[in-house]
Amino acid sequence: MNTAKAHCRTDRKYSGFHTRLRSYEPNQENFALKHLYNIENTKEILAKLGWTREEIKEAKNHISIDVWPYIVRFHIPKWVPISGTALYKQTKSISRFISKKDFISALMERNMSQADLSLIEETDEWYILKYKGSQAEDHRLLLEDGNITCSCHAYNGISQAFHQDQYALKCLMKDPILAGQIPDKHILSAWQYLKCHCMESYSWVWKKIQDAAIHYLNTDWDEVSDE
Ligand SMILES: [Zn+2]
Repeated sequence: MNTAKAHCRTDRKYSGFHTRLRSYEPNQENFALKHLYNIENTKEILAKLGWTREEIKEAKNHISIDVWPYIVRFHIPKWVPISGTALYKQTKSISRFISKKDFISALMERNMSQADLSLIEETDEWYILKYKGSQAEDHRLLLEDGNITCSCHAYNGISQAFHQDQYALKCLMKDPILAGQIPDKHILSAWQYLKCHCMESYSWVWKKIQDAAIHYLNTDWDEVSDE
């Protein structure tokens, strides 16, 4: 609700790029605005900029988020209407550009903090992990060379978000930690389970698991037990 408001205030003029992102109708298909340029990630960025929890709480209903092709503009007015014509002066205001990389980091950090490796389970296949969902809905994590995919709804939404914003996708590919990995919370849980903290360490671990699996498959177990 707040995110929707931040994206379409009638007293602000948004960029053409933003208007195009917004025009993916119906509303739930505005993946980039919903998953990347949302209020939750904005709150994380404001905290990084030194805003206190109280200042963020006060300002969050008045923020506008305007996405440009290579950058994002935040605006929180100093004066906001309270009732009728009365104006209230907020503790803090802001009007500045924010890097798209900051939104990717915010998304990653939020999902990292929600990751839970205790819910990861192994399966009969070495390249598949299971994440025990609540309400008996499990998620399937497919471990590939240089990438993990997840069967959940959020993974699909975040992937679509990057599909809608090509520059954000470039930033994701160049991110020093993610290097192209969609930062879904189940995937980050799998990283924790595999004791990986970045794509580079994941690629290394993946190779080790694959080698072990190949060795296992190539072993003639009848011969081994005869010895
Ligand atoms: Zn997932």
